[in-house]
Amino acid sequence: MSLDVNAERDLASVAGHRIADVKVEYYRIPLAEALADAKHGTHTDFELILTRVICVDGTEGVGYTYTGGTGGRAIYSLIFDEYRDWLIGRDASDIHEIWEAMQWKLHYIGRGGLVSFAMSTIDIALWDIRCKRMGLPMWKVIGAHGNTTKCYAGGIDLNFTEDKLLQNIQGYLDKGFEAVKIKVGKPNYKEDVARVKAVRELIGPDRVFMVDANYSMTRETAIRFSREIEQYDITWFEEPTIPDDFEGYAEIAQATNIPLAMGENLHTIHEFTHAVNYSKLGFLQPDASNIGGITGLMKVAELAYAHNLPVCTHGMQELHVSYLSAIPHAGYLEVHSFPIEHYTTQPLRIVDGRAVAPNTAGTGVIFDEDLIKPHLIKSN
Ligand SMILES: [Mg+2]
Repeated sequence: MSLDVNAERDLASVAGHRIADVKVEYYRIPLAEALADAKHGTHTDFELILTRVICVDGTEGVGYTYTGGTGGRAIYSLIFDEYRDWLIGRDASDIHEIWEAMQWKLHYIGRGGLVSFAMSTIDIALWDIRCKRMGLPMWKVIGAHGNTTKCYAGGIDLNFTEDKLLQNIQGYLDKGFEAVKIKVGKPNYKEDVARVKAVRELIGPDRVFMVDANYSMTRETAIRFSREIEQYDITWFEEPTIPDDFEGYAEIAQATNIPLAMGENLHTIHEFTHAVNYSKLGFLQPDASNIGGITGLMKVAELAYAHNLPVCTHGMQELHVSYLSAIPHAGYLEVHSFPIEHYTTQPLRIVDGRAVAPNTAGTGVIFDEDLIKPHLIKSN
């Protein structure tokens, strides 16, 4: 009996959909200028790790992740040394089965760490294949709530003087953004308060404005700071303190009227579950590049829906735009300062202050070979 069932399962797999090869590429791309936040120091480059999953019938899916400049070689190694051979021969349609198996294959040595980044590249490639086979853009495959989403410009600007900070924000407004975020976390928080005041005066009373401390503050400083900036109508205070201090977030949230946001440093659905249960967040901010790709993002989005919370995203706007556009409880798409989108054939479009998802079959992220090739460090 069980043999028959297995045979039926095999019959449901199309031979051409099996994975024939997996190629991995590691790039290091310089930023136009040095960008700093409170906890990661100064960024001069970002790393891009790209996985191409190629099926027997020649269909190719492209997935990727990125880092702030370190760790990329280890992610490359996890994909190439641990996942590549294991993937070959599997049916690329079995996205959830592959996701679960990838998780447990390396769980003991890498739960939620680099493994989540490596898994993300493969999962995104599998979704690219699924969408291409259906001949539809990802926002349609996910569910087509719409093809646009609210968005904001996320500055990495803690090293900018106040004049340069304001020039940078003006640049965002000139590009059509109606929402902006700045970094905070100066050694003396009073300086952050002055910068918040100056930005609010520049953007006027009606635009959306967020701040991000990159988990640099103590509970006490975060509370003092947030009480002083309440008067500037702040939509959220992002990562006030370390992401592991779930109860600390709740304490800060109860001491201020500014909603809290986090997610870029939560790399498993279980961490997000703890954050929802204990941290009194106003916004969840998953990133498909480190939560296990589109499949991981879907799990967080379902958790958010069940708890009546909006989902925002961190980074990789060229991909996330197609996901957030497709769900009813989307918050804001972050248009991050790492310009991965500029190395693709379809940089993000902003129309009437909203980001527009591409109509191409697949995830909509197609890397421009001429632009990325000069930055290739390693590939198989
Ligand atoms: Mg952040």
